Amino acid sequence: MNKFLLIILTFCLSINSEKISIGILEYYNLKKIKIQFKDLKIIVESSKKSFSNGNLEIEIKESKVQYKMNSQLQTSSFLKISSNENLILEFEQNQNTIQKVFFGEFVFYNFENRLEIIYNTEIDIYAYNSALSELGELANNSPELVMAQAILIKTYILNQKNRHRSRKFSFCDLTHCVHLKNSPKQKINFLLPNLIGGEEYYFHSTCGGKLSSSNGFWNGLGFSTSRNDDIYEEEILCKESPHSEWEYVMNKQKLEELIQKKIQSKIVLTKQNERVMSLNFKTEDGDYELKSSKLVSLIGKKYGWNLIKSNYFELIETDFNFIFKGKGLGHGIGLCQWGAKKLSDKNFNHKEILKFYFPKSKLNK
Ligand SMILES: [Zn+2]
Ligand SMILES: [Zn+2]
Repeated sequence: MNKFLLIILTFCLSINSEKISIGILEYYNLKKIKIQFKDLKIIVESSKKSFSNGNLEIEIKESKVQYKMNSQLQTSSFLKISSNENLILEFEQNQNTIQKVFFGEFVFYNFENRLEIIYNTEIDIYAYNSALSELGELANNSPELVMAQAILIKTYILNQKNRHRSRKFSFCDLTHCVHLKNSPKQKINFLLPNLIGGEEYYFHSTCGGKLSSSNGFWNGLGFSTSRNDDIYEEEILCKESPHSEWEYVMNKQKLEELIQKKIQSKIVLTKQNERVMSLNFKTEDGDYELKSSKLVSLIGKKYGWNLIKSNYFELIETDFNFIFKGKGLGHGIGLCQWGAKKLSDKNFNHKEILKFYFPKSKLNK
């Protein structure tokens, strides 16, 4: 009896998961796409048609979308499709054919002369598939880590709605929001909980041992996270990450060109929990404070991201160069993915992993 009730309840919860709209394949700037399907419903204006097994080709045409189905060409202001099976989205990029697997409902528009694809799915499917995309290889053989990451992403989504107010979707699939590489059908037969407690629900690749504390790297946003280090049983949890230590050598003149100032004194670092907040030095105009977030952004834009991987670094000055000797990758706020992987290897379950990084928070059920 109880089991039966539980099944009914589980079913009700799973079908009640909230829907969300995501702008997908944003990175590729597509004008054209092919969709392989086994079962498909096409909704154009008021008509609805079903098809089995085939290919649908969609491309932008003037201000509209043009689609080809069973060799028939049609044009419409938008096109809506859905399927009960996974769909294969196929497109060309730099002479390569790329395939992605997605499950759900899609709307296609012409947005500023490119094909805008809006993916509507359940928030839990989105959170779960994003967790797999964000974790990459770390997800392998670590179901509790995936679960912890999915709960964290769901919490983030619930706290950050309408990040793209001017568009027809709430989230994009780029680093700006949350990565989503594929989104196949998932058997999530329960509703994912979310975290409550007022901490900042972010995550990053590798902290290097020190997490970012309040009012940290992202200047002015007033982050408040409770955990300061990523240490368990006297061991830095993310030490096996390929980003646990890094070095970047920058020519002094290059740095001066970048900030458009002459550095006329030794650079003094201002730190918070060992993470660099600003670089302070004298210039021809007097004292100068360079925020580390600005430095990372300037170097990133000009010479490539991931050279300065985090704001957890020391600076060594030689005759011609500045040597940045750093630890970790990312902003260091919230959950450290490589650290969380280590905890899941130590048999921590998802609740224990989340408790470790967000000690003041709890799950809402
Ligand atoms: Zn976004
Ligand atoms: Zn870490």
